[in-house]
Amino acid sequence: MQCLKMFGTYRVISKINGVYRGIASLSSLSETHQMLYKTCRDFAEGELKPIAAKIDKEHLYPKEQIKKMGELGLMAIAIPESVGGTGLDYLAYAIAMEEISRGCASAGVIMSVNNSLYLGPIDKFGTKDQKEKYITEFVSGEKIGCFGLSEPGNGSDAGAASTTAKLEGNYYKINGTKCWITNAFESRAGVLFATTDKSLKHKGISAFIFNNPTDGLTLGKKEDKLGIRGSSTCSLIFEDSLIHAENLLAKPGMGFKIAMMTLDAGRIGIACQALGIAQASLECAMEYASKRIAFGTAIIKLQAIQQKIADMALRLESARLLTWRAAHLKDAEKPYTKEAAMAKLAASEAATFCSHQCIQILGGMGYVTDMPAERHYRDARITEIYEGTSEIQRLVIAGNLVKEYGLN
Ligand SMILES: Cc1cc2nc3c(=O)[nH]c(=O)nc-3n(C[C@H](O)[C@H](O)[C@H](O)COP(=O)(O)OP(=O)(O)OC[C@H]3O[C@@H](n4cnc5c(N)ncnc54)[C@H](O)[C@@H]3O)c2cc1C
Repeated sequence: MQCLKMFGTYRVISKINGVYRGIASLSSLSETHQMLYKTCRDFAEGELKPIAAKIDKEHLYPKEQIKKMGELGLMAIAIPESVGGTGLDYLAYAIAMEEISRGCASAGVIMSVNNSLYLGPIDKFGTKDQKEKYITEFVSGEKIGCFGLSEPGNGSDAGAASTTAKLEGNYYKINGTKCWITNAFESRAGVLFATTDKSLKHKGISAFIFNNPTDGLTLGKKEDKLGIRGSSTCSLIFEDSLIHAENLLAKPGMGFKIAMMTLDAGRIGIACQALGIAQASLECAMEYASKRIAFGTAIIKLQAIQQKIADMALRLESARLLTWRAAHLKDAEKPYTKEAAMAKLAASEAATFCSHQCIQILGGMGYVTDMPAERHYRDARITEIYEGTSEIQRLVIAGNLVKEYGLN
């Protein structure tokens, strides 16, 4: 396990102090998970927190930091060692994702897309050759991948994909535009969804692996976003672009199923990104409130402030329990679609709530870029939108409940 090899180095510089209180106090975590947690926290404190404001302001991809995360094994955490991954479980991924996102939410989403949206489906559905070519070279942080599902005409309604893939000899000819693609600018490959048979609607969608750059593929403008500005987002425009038939993932028509299964796992990652933002907001608020004096006392002693802090911690910690439950279920190979949707919904709403309250507790200082509160607020917002909006999560939860109660 790559990251475990690194633990020795990191543990030497690890200081076990009050900062670790949060999730490490849960004694049920294995030694491996606790070590991973401390490693990620040290890394985030030392390497991510100091650059988070700059990359946000200047829209910079944190190349060096992502490379170091690759060296620590964080870019392929739950991918088997046999193909170059770190070989840990999804709980480990959840813990690492939260800690990295607590330091920098942009680094969090870059990591999440590579781990769960790009490597995840190739690991689950890819052939031996596909894994050798498109996983092994994408674990070190040097090369990263992306995931192309959304289109200008369909986001929530992913089954309505209009990008086409037409088999001509040994190649599929791709035409269409994918939009909002995280990591697209830096990616060297991606998983793409396109319809091979429109008459079959979502059952006619297939999944492919594409190279970037490749003939017939151009990238749209880099989107100027509200938050997670250190990660790139842009369109992929395919015009008569050829993908070799050996890059088809699984069988024709399996694309929609692959996309939905991938998003189930991806939602655990985004829930953890949201937990990291919520945790950072809580810490920022508590630290400030303990120092800020108003009416002759530190404001943390005011009951109105304590009410806010209690509500923040409650939402954060309940969302974390839901998220870890979803990760446990995935690790146990049990169904977890509903639980992943609950985790993402609760954690993203907790991040929005906590970052909002953090600004309120900081008052004017919450509104300016001297403090991280306003960045947490902007970063939190996307977690309620991508990998399925909060409305879509509620539909997934309700749909599963209807089935569970036998009412369909
Ligand atoms: C920064 C960023 C990064 C992204 N990264 C990626 C990526 O890497 N790969 C990728 O494929 N996509 C990516 N996306 C796309 C993202 O997943 C979509 O934006 C999201 O799924 C919502 O789709 P939409 O924007 O088309 O909104 P729409 O689907 O148009 O929804 C608009 C509104 O209608 C609501 N709505 C829609 N349908 C229903 C319904 N049935 N019931 C109730 N309400 C409904 C939605 O909840 C939302 O409030 C990214 C988006 C952003 C902004």
